[in-house]
Amino acid sequence: MTKKKCLWLFGLSGAGKTTLANALADKLSTNKVKILDGDILRKGINNNLGFSNEDRFENVRRTAEIAKLFIEEGYWVVVALITPFEVMRQNNRKILGEDYIEIFIDTPIALCEQRDPKGLYAKVSQRKITNFTGFDSPFEIPQSPNLILKTVDRTIEECVKEIIVFIFSEKL
Ligand code: ADP
Repeated sequence: MTKKKCLWLFGLSGAGKTTLANALADKLSTNKVKILDGDILRKGINNNLGFSNEDRFENVRRTAEIAKLFIEEGYWVVVALITPFEVMRQNNRKILGEDYIEIFIDTPIALCEQRDPKGLYAKVSQRKITNFTGFDSPFEIPQSPNLILKTVDRTIEECVKEIIVFIFSEKL
């Protein structure tokens, strides 16, 4: 595969998106590569958006449009964003077409809660956060991801290797 693509990593908070996006970008770093991390975008271009369904959709849509701009410049783009609804993923495919590679970071919520890298699950249980994906905001299981990546009992290295093998072996 020569054409650069958008690797869209999505799943619950704590699933491993940011960790794997960074590790993946390191592996691809002999090329031009751009990480688009939802948490970072929410501090800048998306800082006017909240967590209603409409705002979440807009958050995802803008990210897909930014990804498209980088792809046009020959970058690999690695996105780390919860992307909870199927309609968002369908819209991503509409925006990015065959450059869109959907990778579901499939980690059970119990493990995400145990990892709790940002302390968010603790805040949810203390009712300090609402509209939280997996609790009072839904996460729809994807219908047709290109890859389902399990992280339970696996190292970061193993997971990144599975993605790399997938993207370079598939006739994408
Ligand atoms: P997200 O971006 O999905 O909210 P993060 O990447 O911030 O999640 O946090 C995931 C946490 O899980 C990190 O502390 C990471 O070290 C840990 N972790 C353990 N095993 C894995 C794995 N196989 N893949 C990704 N992350 C893992």
